[in-house]
Amino acid sequence: MSLSINTPLLESLPLGQRNNTRVWMKMEAMQPSGSFKMRGVGHACEYYAAQGAQRFISSSGGNAGLAVAYAGRKLGIPALIVVPETTSERARYLLGLEGAGVKVHGQSWAEAHEFALSVSTKDDAFIHPFDSPLLWEGHATLIDEVASDGVKPDAVILSVGGGGLLSGVCEGLQRNGLGHIPVFTAETEGMASFKAAHQAGYPVMLPALTGVATSLGARQVCQRAVEWSREMRIEPWTVSDQEAVDACLSFADDHRTLVEPACGAALALLYTQKLPLHEMNDVLVIVCGGSTTTLSALQQFTKSEK
Ligand SMILES: *Cc1c(COP(=O)(O)O)cnc(C)c1O
Repeated sequence: MSLSINTPLLESLPLGQRNNTRVWMKMEAMQPSGSFKMRGVGHACEYYAAQGAQRFISSSGGNAGLAVAYAGRKLGIPALIVVPETTSERARYLLGLEGAGVKVHGQSWAEAHEFALSVSTKDDAFIHPFDSPLLWEGHATLIDEVASDGVKPDAVILSVGGGGLLSGVCEGLQRNGLGHIPVFTAETEGMASFKAAHQAGYPVMLPALTGVATSLGARQVCQRAVEWSREMRIEPWTVSDQEAVDACLSFADDHRTLVEPACGAALALLYTQKLPLHEMNDVLVIVCGGSTTTLSALQQFTKSEK
């Protein structure tokens, strides 16, 4: 049994028409926890459960924490999610619904993370949100599914936070004979730690993170994501917060699915027609999902910016 599900691969006529190509959407928003994180986190949790882990610990108040909480409930293993005070009421509510223990500690993710590590014992499995080979192995299965559905993309578009999704997708592309196709990465301007690392050639620590796409908020990407830039053609792109939010709202109308601005960033590259896709026949966009926003929060953002 796998904790993540095979997700639909759907064609988007509105996005295809705008970009003069076929656009395929991998609908990771449909995963039980609401995002692709279910794949890698589910895979890691299954592995640690088989090793006899007595408890799962996570320091993510976002989609990684939700996936850990879901995995704990399904596997019958208690989950402890340590989150900073800045974590939204909605995220705490969703974690509580999964039956996870929620401990609020510190002003920042770094403080919550330190605390989570300090309470971990040898019987606990600590699940990192993006920097672990087990996660990448799990995320890579989304490309296996695309290949077995018979679609051969000429390019992939995806969002980058800490680089876990990117690392998994590159692994999946490579093992399916697609290591030659370009990957266009999306970040919002205030969260562009991958773009900075790509330019420098090594992970760079951003002085600060700003903006609405909180699930992209890693000040520094993982080393593996930067290494992939040497092995594959990866192009970093950025969008504004407003473009990411607008993309979420348009996507809700076009495809009846609500996603976070973190995912909207990737969709925005298609909605704004920024990418050089004219020579492509089949473009794959990872609709990575996200559970921590609401329609009214997106509409509120748009109102306050105007
Ligand atoms: C975690 C997450 C990302 C970023 O993924 P990384 O593996 O950290 O790069 C993007 N979008 C959503 C919705 C996420 O939950």
